[in-house]
Amino acid sequence: MKINNSRTVTYSPAYTIVPTYECFNRCTYCNFRTNPGKSPWMTLATAESILKQLQNQNICEILILSGEVHPHSPQRQEWFQLIYDLCNLALAMGFLPHTNAGPLSFAEMQKLKNVNVSMGLMLEQLTPKLLNTVHKHAPSKLPEVRLQQLEWVGELQIPFTTGLLLGIGETIADCEETLAAISQIHQRYHHIQEVILQPHSPGNQQSFDAPPFNPLQLPEIIAQARQILPSEITIQIPPNLVKDEQWLLACVEAGARDLGGIGPKDEVNPDYPHVQEQRLREILQPAGWELVPRLPVYPQFDDWLSEDLQNSVKRSRLFLG
Ligand code: SF4
Repeated sequence: MKINNSRTVTYSPAYTIVPTYECFNRCTYCNFRTNPGKSPWMTLATAESILKQLQNQNICEILILSGEVHPHSPQRQEWFQLIYDLCNLALAMGFLPHTNAGPLSFAEMQKLKNVNVSMGLMLEQLTPKLLNTVHKHAPSKLPEVRLQQLEWVGELQIPFTTGLLLGIGETIADCEETLAAISQIHQRYHHIQEVILQPHSPGNQQSFDAPPFNPLQLPEIIAQARQILPSEITIQIPPNLVKDEQWLLACVEAGARDLGGIGPKDEVNPDYPHVQEQRLREILQPAGWELVPRLPVYPQFDDWLSEDLQNSVKRSRLFLG
């Protein structure tokens, strides 16, 4: 598997499992959440039948993406156990789990490290002014809570994906501050494998009434991020949110080298269907870019994984070729 060659762009063949859409936060740009108690949780039996169908479909990553149950809720333990069991099931069926379930306690992270090859949490933006606007009713979006998560995963040596949401009321200087914070924490722990730059793209469910982030500005932000972030951190952009092919190419030219998980549905932006692999190849190849699949863990982090997880990764890497 080739990664980060000069003319190589990667993506992860992935499928997203959602343990629950319920979330105690109410970010006004959200197109994912339901109110607590308003949607059934996924059962292990349902997950198993989904995963069975995926077994011959060239999918390596199972993204476990969950709405958040409040840390003090009596249901927190059951919620956490479901996430753990889903990861275990995915592993047993030959997939590599990557969990993004919002802020976790140190002990929860430590347990999930045993059944995940990498994990993720967006920083979004660190500026506290968003606590008066889009994050007014989202207690887990406190900047200090999220920064602490990045510290803890560093201490635990968990390969990690984080990122910025663009166009939610931040300035260019705010973006630079968030990128600089990621860079600083990474220089202590060397644990960030990717930073996602995700343009706000309005959907049908959200109450946040703002235009989409102008995709024409994305190459500029990518170039800035490339200056601020250490070179070993890959910049990821979601291609379904950059509609214009020329601008997608401009983003790659500016330094984005990964297109994230590509699967049947973008659960976070359900109004924007994923662009499938063949189409992405048709866009990239004429411009001299090779699209190659990758695993949810980059090879330089293999040593951080348990022996069992390393064996699973080895098998998947052989499968990818
Ligand atoms: S964006 Fe995430 S944290 Fe915010 S309400 Fe939606 S699911 Fe919850």
